[in-house]
Amino acid sequence: MSRIYNFSAGPSTLPKPVLHRAASELVEYGSSGQSVMEMSHRSPEYDEIITKCQSLLRCVMNIPDNYKVLFIQGGASMQFSMVPQNLLSGSGKADYIVSGMFSKKAYDEACRFGKINLVATGKEYNFTRIPDIDPAKYDPEADYLHICENNTVFGTRFTQLPRSSAPLVADLSSCILSEPIDVTKYGLIYAGAQKNMGPAGLCVVIAREDLIGNPQPGLATMLDYNTYAENDSMYNTPPTYAIYIMGMVLRWIEEEMGGLAGMKAYNEKKAGVLYDYLDTTSFYRAVAEPACRSIMNVTFVTGDADRDKAFCLQAQKAGFYNLKGHRSVGGMRASIYNAMPIAGVEKLVAFMKEFEAANK
Ligand SMILES: *Cc1c(COP(=O)(O)O)cnc(C)c1O
Repeated sequence: MSRIYNFSAGPSTLPKPVLHRAASELVEYGSSGQSVMEMSHRSPEYDEIITKCQSLLRCVMNIPDNYKVLFIQGGASMQFSMVPQNLLSGSGKADYIVSGMFSKKAYDEACRFGKINLVATGKEYNFTRIPDIDPAKYDPEADYLHICENNTVFGTRFTQLPRSSAPLVADLSSCILSEPIDVTKYGLIYAGAQKNMGPAGLCVVIAREDLIGNPQPGLATMLDYNTYAENDSMYNTPPTYAIYIMGMVLRWIEEEMGGLAGMKAYNEKKAGVLYDYLDTTSFYRAVAEPACRSIMNVTFVTGDADRDKAFCLQAQKAGFYNLKGHRSVGGMRASIYNAMPIAGVEKLVAFMKEFEAANK
């Protein structure tokens, strides 16, 4: 068997030991006589799997007891509408910072449900950095402030959280579990699983209890956070297999990567290998400004669209897949999530050097 180096922005590469374990348990989980995929979500075996996944996440991320952990379907994109419909419960107003494509989508969706204040946007400079924030622009009555902490498409991230008196709601889809965070600084966190946690089909929401009790009137049952909170995410069938895989990914982080502190050190080292090279060559140019570079998604260009195209084609032939940048940025994007081994990044840099030498 030969595995590619998969630099996809998502769904993305998963830890090999997790895949092997899943393979060995695919047909029969433990001595249950069945696959996890076939199990009743109400069975004692599955109850243990989902309970364990939640308690591991609480332990790995150090989530306080007054936060609920919810497993929801519909991807991170469904949170763009669930967040406003559940949290616009006071003034009906919210602050949004638009720092990239996904926060723009979240902003557009929220505008359907309340009075949304655009605090700052990085549109003028095509999101190559996190926009400066003028605190005077915050709405003092906002029910919450929304950000996307790591901008998957542009390769930037907040290195400091914005300070506002409103509860902070953050889309962590492409950076959750990449480093330790202080959950108490957030009112609500959401993240699609398919970047750093597991397969697509699962979205994790971590919500401070006091924020989710008062949704907009008439909200559909399945869009109400309380439905998930009151039923341990089992009001209906949860994405059972994705939760099972996520539990194993958490165990891998805990047991093999040294928890989130170890994960952070590993991720910084990996990103360093790429950025260090990008900073020493004039053949390629990193897109994101140094002060807000993502350690998960590294965007770069050669400055010539045809050469970028040739790069991606040849890279794929050499075993480096999915390096094509998003159409709004062009060039290349190497997504180097938790499960990308450092060897993958080192070999990619070696390939980049060869390509440079051959095309200079
Ligand atoms: C991938 C991604 C999304 C969209 O996730 P879906 O699960 O496809 O809805 C939203 N926000 C960020 C930051 C992402 O990286």
